[in-house]
Amino acid sequence: MNSDGSKKHVVIVGGGFAGLSCARKLAKSDGVHVTLIDRNNFHQFQPLLYQLATSEVGTGDVATSLRQALHGHPNVDVKIGEVTAVNPATRTVSTRQGESYEGDFLVLAAGSQANFFGTSGAAENAFPLYGLEEAQRLRSRILKVFEDADRDPKLLERGALNFVIVGGGPTGTEMAGALADMIRGGLADEYPDLAVKKAQVYLVDHGASLLAAFSKKAHAYAARILQRKGVDIRLGVAVKEVAPDHVVLSDGTSIPTRTVVWAGGLMASPLAANAGLPRGHGGRIEVLPDLTVAGFPGVYVLGDFANIPSAKGQFMPQLASVAQQCGEWTAKNILTEIAGEERTAFHYHDKGIMAMIGRDAAVAEIGKKRHELDGPIAFAAWLGVHALLMSGVRQRIEAFVDWAWTYFSRSRPIQILDRGDMARIDWDEGAGESSSSSAPAVKSAR
Ligand SMILES: Cc1cc2nc3c(=O)[nH]c(=O)nc-3n(C[C@H](O)[C@H](O)[C@H](O)COP(=O)(O)OP(=O)(O)OC[C@H]3O[C@@H](n4cnc5c(N)ncnc54)[C@H](O)[C@@H]3O)c2cc1C
Repeated sequence: MNSDGSKKHVVIVGGGFAGLSCARKLAKSDGVHVTLIDRNNFHQFQPLLYQLATSEVGTGDVATSLRQALHGHPNVDVKIGEVTAVNPATRTVSTRQGESYEGDFLVLAAGSQANFFGTSGAAENAFPLYGLEEAQRLRSRILKVFEDADRDPKLLERGALNFVIVGGGPTGTEMAGALADMIRGGLADEYPDLAVKKAQVYLVDHGASLLAAFSKKAHAYAARILQRKGVDIRLGVAVKEVAPDHVVLSDGTSIPTRTVVWAGGLMASPLAANAGLPRGHGGRIEVLPDLTVAGFPGVYVLGDFANIPSAKGQFMPQLASVAQQCGEWTAKNILTEIAGEERTAFHYHDKGIMAMIGRDAAVAEIGKKRHELDGPIAFAAWLGVHALLMSGVRQRIEAFVDWAWTYFSRSRPIQILDRGDMARIDWDEGAGESSSSSAPAVKSAR
C-alpha cells in the first residue's frame, strides 16, 4: 500500500506466459492493483501453433480470453491496446490508441517476433509462426495450395505442393513432422483427383544437425523419423532468398514453392526498440539476475523480451516454462519490495527440453541432468509438461479432446480455410523461373 492507503499500481505489458502468470500471482494480494495491457484480448499457447496450422487443433485450443483468465479478481484490470512507447524513468507506457498508464511498478513482457536476419524477400513472402493469426494464415495457405492444385494439376509442376520449412530447431522440426503427417494422413482420400503423393516437405537448416540444442542421439532420431515420413532434409545450407514462387538456397538450389514456413529465429518484439532500455543479443532487454533493469527502479523485464543471465554465464532459452516462472518470481519480488525487503535473483526450475516430431515420436531431455528419452515415453512427457503450462483446466481438456479425436480418428475436423487473404494466390506472380510447365520441380546446383 502507499502511505495514503491506496494500493500500489503494477502495470504489466503483455498477457503471454510471463505477464499472465505475474498478474495471476499478484491478483491474490490485496495490497496491489494490476493493469494488464495486451494488443490482443487473448493469451496464446504457442506450443500448439503448429498443430493449429496443420488442422490438428482449433483456435479455441490455443487461445484463452485474458478477461476470463483473470475473471474474479477485482484488483486486476485488463486493457486492450498496443503499447508503442515506454518511459522507464516514470514507469509509464503509451498506447497507439492514445492512452497512457503509469505504475509504481512496470513489468514488460512483450515476447518475440520472427527474426528474418535480413534474408531477401523473407519478410514479404515467408510465413512466420509465432502467433495465432500467423498459424491461421499458414493453415489457410496450406489448404489453398491443395485446392488450387486439385483444380489445376499443372500447378504441381510449379511447386504448388512443395512446402519449405526454414530452421531445424524445435519449431521447424515439429512443423515438418506435423505437416508430413497431415499430407500422408487423410488428404489422399479427400483429393482423389490429385497426386497428393507428389507433395514434398523440405526442412532446411544451415547447421550440421536438426535440434541443435539436443544430444547427438536426438539429432539422429529426429532425422530418422522425419526421413521416414518423407521429409527432404537439407543441412549445411542457408536460405538466401524467398521469392513469391520459389526459394533459393546458398548452394544454388532453387525450390519452386508458394509455402515457406519461417522457423529460422526470433528476436524481441518491436516494442523493445522504443522501451528506452539497454538491448543486447536478439534486440532483447538486458536484465539483472532479479529481472530488474540497472538504473530503473521498479522496472522488470520478463520472458522472451529479456536476456536473462543464466548460471553458466549465458542467457536462458526462450521457453514458455522460463517465462511462466519469471512471471511468478517477479510477482513475489514486487510484493517483497512493497514489504520493504530485498529482492532475490530469479532461480529457474529446469524441467528440460523436448520436441514432438509428429504422431508417436518425440525427444525429451528431462531435468537439469538432461535424462534422454525418445519415442512414446517422450511423447507422454511432452504432453504432461505442456498440459501444466496451459492456462486453465477447461483449455487443457478441450485441447486434448480435440487432439485425441484427430489422433485416433485420423481425421482433421478443423481443416478450415478461413483466411481470405491467403486464399488468393497469384500463380503468375514471381520471377517466372519456375513458371514453365516443363520446369523441373527442383533446380539443383549440385
Ligand atoms: C511455434 C512455437 C512453439 C513453441 N513451443 C514451445 C514449447 O513446446 N515449449 C516451450 O516451453 N516453449 C515453446 N515456445 C516458446 C514459448 O512460446 C515462448 O518462450 C513464450 O511464449 C514466451 O512467453 P512471453 O510471455 O515472454 O511472451 P509471449 O507468450 O509471446 O507473450 C507476449 C505477449 O505480449 C503481447 N504484446 C507484444 N507486443 C505488445 C505491445 N506492443 N503492446 C501490447 N501487447 C503486446 C502479445 O500479444 C503477447 O500476448 C514456442 C514458441 C513458438 C513460436
